[in-house]
Amino acid sequence: MAEKIRCLCRRCAIGGLRWPVILVLLGFLLFLDRWNMRYGFEQLFPLLFIVFGGMKAAEALASAEGHASG
Ligand SMILES: [Zn+2]
Repeated sequence: MAEKIRCLCRRCAIGGLRWPVILVLLGFLLFLDRWNMRYGFEQLFPLLFIVFGGMKAAEALASAEGHASG
């Protein structure tokens, strides 16, 4: 079987990155919060929405050329 395990088009690549990026950002914000840096989770949590929305937008705009459906 020479089939691709997953689709590598830009849209799917961005879609696949969304949750890992959100989790890393969330962890980073909680890390800052725990270490009592100047900006904690309370100040920076809107970033999660901005990044999530931005990635959704990027995914919608990204080319699906070469998309392997199914
Ligand atoms: Zn695809």
